Amino acid sequence: MTSALTPPPAPARSLTGRTALVTGGGSGIGRACVTALAAAGAYVHVADVDAEAAKAAAEAADGTAHVVDLADADADALDCLPTAVDIVVNNAGLQHVAALHEFPPEQFTRIQQVMVTAPFLLIRRSLPYMYGQGWGRIVNISSVHGLRASAYKAAYVAAKHALEGLSKVTALEAAEHGVTSNCINPGYVRTPLVEQQITAQAAAHAIPQESVISDVLLKRSAIKRLIAPEDVAGAAVWLCGPHAAFVTGASLPLDGGWTAG
Ligand code: NAD
Repeated sequence: MTSALTPPPAPARSLTGRTALVTGGGSGIGRACVTALAAAGAYVHVADVDAEAAKAAAEAADGTAHVVDLADADADALDCLPTAVDIVVNNAGLQHVAALHEFPPEQFTRIQQVMVTAPFLLIRRSLPYMYGQGWGRIVNISSVHGLRASAYKAAYVAAKHALEGLSKVTALEAAEHGVTSNCINPGYVRTPLVEQQITAQAAAHAIPQESVISDVLLKRSAIKRLIAPEDVAGAAVWLCGPHAAFVTGASLPLDGGWTAG
């Protein structure tokens, strides 16, 4: 038993010897995943369209930065990324808020490319190595919007629901090879992506930013606060760890009770 004066034990470096690839690893949840995976012992490749952010995240984690635009529809665009990875975290994402009848088709296509096609291509090209190792972990950063819809987010909700399907098919095909695939479904996380939405909604509705958080974003959440990126990263590391080997094809809500309602 630990007393109040005894520091808690250091987290086990359960991923020592493993290699991970994190998309969108330069910011927000992705950056937190890079930090947490490295702290758990993994060597981390950071893939991001933002060169400076990718470099900073990789340097801080003693990993490698890769500058790549996942919106590039060219099938060879991802060839710069390593295939010999034990863990893939499909995290890169973006949002566009507009009514369906005004939704720009090119934004819809871009969001599907980054949040569905790129994860498909990355899973497709990393599975052969994982199958050869008899071990692998696919962690898809989905959203509460992979399980529930919100108005004005057609592209994002469609993409996250598609990612849920992709993750489940991966789980079924990869199980016999020791590879799991799961989704994490956060509610609103305090990251640059959400900060932008708060600013935009406050301006659009002419209300204070605090009201956007409590009355708009968290209206359907039982817990009335934004989650920290580190909490999402903690779940990602757990899904890669020894206690989660039987968890596959699952969707893990970190949504403050949103989907319970
Ligand atoms: P963020 O904006 O802080 O970071 C996203 C990262 O993805 C950035 O580093 C960005 O450069 C990178 N990226 C964007 N487009 C890219 C592209 N075309 N190619 C390569 N990299 C690209 O966002 P975040 O809030 O950390 O979101 C990360 C993931 O978590 C997304 O998939 C998002 O949908 C999901 N999510 C976020 C929240 C939230 O509240 N923030 C909630 C649920 C799910």
